[in-house]
Amino acid sequence: MRPMGVVLHERLLSRGRAGPPGRNGGLAMPTVAFYTLGCKVNAYETEAIWRLFEQRGYTRVDFEDEADVYVINTCTVTNTGDQKSRKIIRRAVRKNPDAVVAVTGCYAQTSPAEVLAIPGVDVVIGTTGRNRLLEYIEEARRTRRPVNAVTNIMKVREYENLTVTKFAERTRAFLKIQEGCNNFCTFCIIPWAKGLARSRRPEDVLAEARALAEAGYREIVLTGTHTGGYGEDLDGYRLSDLLRDLSRIDGIERIRISSIEASQLTDDVFEAMAASEKLCRHFHVPLQAGDDAVLRRMRRKYTTGEYAARIERLREIFPEAAITTDVIVGFPGETEAMFEAGVRFVEQIGFSELHVFPYSKRSGTPAARMPDQVPEPEKKRRVQTMLALNERLKAAYRRKFLGRVLSVLPEAREAKPPADADAGEVWLAGLTDNYLRVSFPGDPSLIGELVRVRLDALDGEVLRGTPVRLLSPVAGA
Ligand code: SF4
Repeated sequence: MRPMGVVLHERLLSRGRAGPPGRNGGLAMPTVAFYTLGCKVNAYETEAIWRLFEQRGYTRVDFEDEADVYVINTCTVTNTGDQKSRKIIRRAVRKNPDAVVAVTGCYAQTSPAEVLAIPGVDVVIGTTGRNRLLEYIEEARRTRRPVNAVTNIMKVREYENLTVTKFAERTRAFLKIQEGCNNFCTFCIIPWAKGLARSRRPEDVLAEARALAEAGYREIVLTGTHTGGYGEDLDGYRLSDLLRDLSRIDGIERIRISSIEASQLTDDVFEAMAASEKLCRHFHVPLQAGDDAVLRRMRRKYTTGEYAARIERLREIFPEAAITTDVIVGFPGETEAMFEAGVRFVEQIGFSELHVFPYSKRSGTPAARMPDQVPEPEKKRRVQTMLALNERLKAAYRRKFLGRVLSVLPEAREAKPPADADAGEVWLAGLTDNYLRVSFPGDPSLIGELVRVRLDALDGEVLRGTPVRLLSPVAGA
């Protein structure tokens, strides 16, 4: 059977649109271009979808180039996400009106009719069934009719197993372990876009982790919609089991959990964390609000007291861990006193970094219909206050490590070496396990190898350092 890419290419030829000659024995293979909006999970999925095209003989081109197929992976987390998605779809249609334009992702899932109403869209597919995307593209091409492949995501109970073993970064790989969320926080549209929580089969996660280790990745970042909820739908296999099994894989030196809810930090998880020598001392634990009344209105699953207790336990195991978080300010009904309580709570926890968001109405969510919406200028003021606190907390956390020696995994050459660096000296940039960005002078052959670095100075958000010794063996040395 000929690869579908070849079939599509022949159709393009029959319509008088041959690609550039020279490749594939005189015939150029069809091209595909991607655009990803939104989060890291979307970025992961775009890479997984690209693999499907690659297996069918496609060549990937830049989104700004003319392509035979455009795939836009959309976002709907805010109303702005919808607008941006529509803008990019129109841009793809303008780039090549003869191309097949396929739209996937969260906005496509929640608003397929809106997407199909955009002239030039050929395929709309939501957040599942992407394994069949190439069939739909072929169908749209054959029938000249748009294909709506969006199904009811709330009925989906199986994790869609798409794999990725190659990333733009050479040292850190994302590994998706889970999809969907059952929490239905009142501000969030995600459960409607991604469906209910479902975990990837342990054997598939472990196989991908082994493949990543073989491909030379030293660090894996576990991702998902609700990553810490891994295993809640599985029979007798939990996040703690996965952490234990992943820790045993040779070649993987670091395991990072992209995000975990306070309510998911259970005794079982703490035990597995304490037992793993590879788990990064960096935990992103979304707080969203530091006041109990606001947390209740958000329908979060913890109080500030419970949150603080889990962080305390985490710090008993990892005393110097970086604890990062998300905070929404100006949630409906948040009074000045509640906001101030939140500021005090954030200070009390002593996060190493905050991601601050002004509350933004998401149509279709309960919070969008709540009374007592906070006026925009007031939200802006609260954002500024929280951001100023963030700057102080970030600097304080980084300064604690000055003079210390930590392991750094260099990812690339430093784009901006310090002004006083020797001319021609190469600097490398990478991360410590507790998520400090470090740069130091070193040979590019060290990229991807764990290096002990003494942290000498804080330069903006980056710690400048001096390499002390190499930890992991250089391949082939
Ligand atoms: S936990 Fe809440 S904020 Fe996070 S994805 Fe689920 S519903 Fe959205």
